[in-house]
Amino acid sequence: MNKLQKKPPNRTELAKLIKDVPEEYQQHIQSMSLKMMQHPAYGQPYQWSTRDFEMGAPLGRGKFGRVYLARERTSNFIVAMKVMFKAELEKGNVQRQVLREIEIQTRLKHPNILRLLTWFHDDSRIYLALEIASEGELYKHLRNSPQRRFEEPRAAKYTYQVADALEYCHLNNVIHRDLKPENILLTSSDDVKLADFGWSAHTISNKRKTLCGTLDYLPPEMVDGHIYDHSVDHWCLGILCYEFLVGCAPFESNDNEKTYEKIRRLEVYYPSHMSSGAKDLISKLLRKSNNGRITLVEVMKHHWVKENMAIRNAYLEEKMRREKAIE
Ligand code: AMP
Repeated sequence: MNKLQKKPPNRTELAKLIKDVPEEYQQHIQSMSLKMMQHPAYGQPYQWSTRDFEMGAPLGRGKFGRVYLARERTSNFIVAMKVMFKAELEKGNVQRQVLREIEIQTRLKHPNILRLLTWFHDDSRIYLALEIASEGELYKHLRNSPQRRFEEPRAAKYTYQVADALEYCHLNNVIHRDLKPENILLTSSDDVKLADFGWSAHTISNKRKTLCGTLDYLPPEMVDGHIYDHSVDHWCLGILCYEFLVGCAPFESNDNEKTYEKIRRLEVYYPSHMSSGAKDLISKLLRKSNNGRITLVEVMKHHWVKENMAIRNAYLEEKMRREKAIE
């Protein structure tokens, strides 16, 4: 039987969905919403399976998963389907990490956090249907930029969006703990999406002691094996912002012990091309004492972030206007 005939559309709900949509997009959004509302999964339990999706080109490969472009057959909705083999997860002893990632990412709903739309499994594999971020890893963009770094307006916009996503995580008792450009994806509209919650943790007790994350991004309290809290993410945001602007992390070294030492001594070199505003923000995040670091709301309100983000947004608007004029 055709799935589309199963449910009549709810007109009131449909009107609500398109209420604030600009006129030129209303017809498109209305037809998409109609398809979505008529899907048997809409608003009720539904057992998704591979039969619902047509798999397409590979998008990338991670340590434990391969990611493919996929299309939901009824609605034509495009997702990024991450496929993981249970045997590989078992061999890597990361089953709990994956389950935690699924549990945390299902709960988090924020414009700068990659949405896990649904998940299912069969005898040998686990499938995660993820929101698509068609520009891929931010890391790739950073490495391909001139001098392997972003200009300040671009760095400021991404810093703002990551701060916003982290603030939302912390309000929901989640610490990310593994912030780095490899774990951030970029959309076609130049918005970042925080991904990879494999190392993140629920923080109901608020204080934790596990050593995890990437070496160059480790805060001093984790290097020394002390108890830590959500402010490890504030430190990592400082490192991330530095990497955006310089092209490498501030404590990078080819010897792990040297990296640890540099972190302990807070040995940061600020190159001359970095503006005083950027330096001010980074130095306020890279504080040894976790309660000395500025809050994420203060990051979002920081004058360097606000001024540079306005420049980036104006540039993007102008670019869009020009592209429309050419069409
Ligand atoms: P992962 O296993 O999560 O590390 O993903 C492996 C690679 O697949 C990433 O480096 C990206 O290039 C790509 N990828 C993962 N998730 C998405 C997504 N939601 N949208 C687009 N590409 C993705």
